[in-house]
Amino acid sequence: MSGTAGTAICVLRCDLRAHDNQVLHWAQQNADFVIPLYCFDPRHYLGTHCYSWPKTGPHRLRFLLESVKDLRETLQKKGSSLVVRKGKPEDVVCDLITQLGSVTAVVFHEEATQEELDVEKGLYQVCGQHGVKVQTFWGSTLYHRDDLPFRPIDRLPDVYTHFRKALESGARVRPTLQMPDQLKPLAPGLQEGIIPTMEDFGQKDPVTDPRTAFPCSGGETQALMRLQYYFWDTNLVASYKETRNGLVGMDYSTKFAPWLALGCISPRYIYEQIQKYERERTANQSTYWVLFELLWRDYFRFVALKYGRRIFSLRGLQSKEIPWKKDLQLFSCWKEGKTGVPFVDANMRELSATGFMSNRGRQNVASFLTKDLGLDWRMGAEWFEYLLVDYDVCSNYGNWLYSAGIGNDPRENRKFNMIKQGLDYDGNGDYVRLWVPELQGIKGADIHTPWALSSAALSQAGVTLGETYPQPVVTAPEWSRHIHQRPGGSPHPRGRRGAAQHKDRGIDFYFSRKKDAC
Ligand code: FAD
Repeated sequence: MSGTAGTAICVLRCDLRAHDNQVLHWAQQNADFVIPLYCFDPRHYLGTHCYSWPKTGPHRLRFLLESVKDLRETLQKKGSSLVVRKGKPEDVVCDLITQLGSVTAVVFHEEATQEELDVEKGLYQVCGQHGVKVQTFWGSTLYHRDDLPFRPIDRLPDVYTHFRKALESGARVRPTLQMPDQLKPLAPGLQEGIIPTMEDFGQKDPVTDPRTAFPCSGGETQALMRLQYYFWDTNLVASYKETRNGLVGMDYSTKFAPWLALGCISPRYIYEQIQKYERERTANQSTYWVLFELLWRDYFRFVALKYGRRIFSLRGLQSKEIPWKKDLQLFSCWKEGKTGVPFVDANMRELSATGFMSNRGRQNVASFLTKDLGLDWRMGAEWFEYLLVDYDVCSNYGNWLYSAGIGNDPRENRKFNMIKQGLDYDGNGDYVRLWVPELQGIKGADIHTPWALSSAALSQAGVTLGETYPQPVVTAPEWSRHIHQRPGGSPHPRGRRGAAQHKDRGIDFYFSRKKDAC
């Protein structure tokens, strides 16, 4: 752009932050007036692609509205604001260009998936028609796309470990950008626009369930506070590897995902804070493991770049023909937490009530849907898309493909054993008791297999199968090995361990075992 004249429109999408934001940074240096713009795109509130569940559920919508509000307040403190409109970004930008007459550049972060790329194409077209420059950046990952040791992107390894090792030995994370304290003003006369409410989208504010593992609000301010808490106030980060497979409460994992999904926190900022923590406090397997997990997030984003639309296809990345079922009745049991398999039901009820589910839970319910029920994996992926407060298109579809055995899993036929997983990670049944109260009368680990209890035991616990709690919709032969394991008398002591005792197991452990090892 010549000189510094003119107005730059910064189209913000999943980069709702003022720190380490290259779009705002560039506009600040290259324009007299800067318009940070967020558009509530009506396409985000339609139905999901195959099954038409609503695309954005109430927990994520609330979180988004909070994030937008927070960014407006932050930008206002810096002498700017966030302009908000309802409409497709390409239409809104076209209107603004016409209305203002002074727009010289449109700036945005590039995304990786089809619908988002279609928006970008629309922006290029509009700008082309009006002779306005388009400036784009890559900013959603820890490692920059252009710094990958695999070029072109087709050469990205199909196995995560190969990807990780190549990056760890041959790439560097770029430093965060220094942002100015004061930002350039909005173009004169421009209305900020009213931030819509839940009701404007035909939704109600969801009731906050006191059992939620994610009681936080959206926005950069809260994201930075969460990091301060998890790293510096409590040192929880130093035991992350031991706690990360937990199921109950705020503190077993970072809970960064919802903020990362909307870009309220920069992954590079998290990286710098980990480095600082390692210098000033301690460096151990746990501090490393947060980066290890963030690299999964990067990986799935680059997988989306490599495979394009194929991440959404029924046959997945491996073009595998699998006779998936589309049984809506079975699917209803899964989504409502009424499969009769308590560990699955507890997780699915948590998701509906709160918009959150632990990583352990997600892996299990996804394996159950795809491997035990044999349902079309996209039913599950789209249900998660609707409900997850941290829904991220690449992480969600990448993980679902992985769980369905048609993604980046080098192993054939990996399947989780629901009963063993329940016993390993919820040994005393407390998590199930929290979310499936109708089974509360069953003591200890027996809660994971109510159908295996005697009628006397069930009646003592006040449970009538088929009436107060369902019979299991399916049972897998491998479950029987883990039935009737009790603390103190189990032939497989691993079945009694809690998550904390899995401290040496990481994702590699699970993903490098033979079939049914889990
Ligand atoms: P932590 O355990 O604290 O991890 C730190 C960060 O690392 C996370 O915030 C996340 O950004 C990243 N991360 C961790 N595990 C993964 C993973 N397996 N894949 C990608 N990134 C990871 N994560 C999403 O952010 N959005 C999704 O839509 C999503 N859908 C999923 C669907 C399925 C079927 C499965 C099995 C996993 C999915 N995940 C998704 C990954 C993971 O479950 C969540 O990132 C994690 O549970 C969020 O909690 P946290 O922030 O406390 O994670």
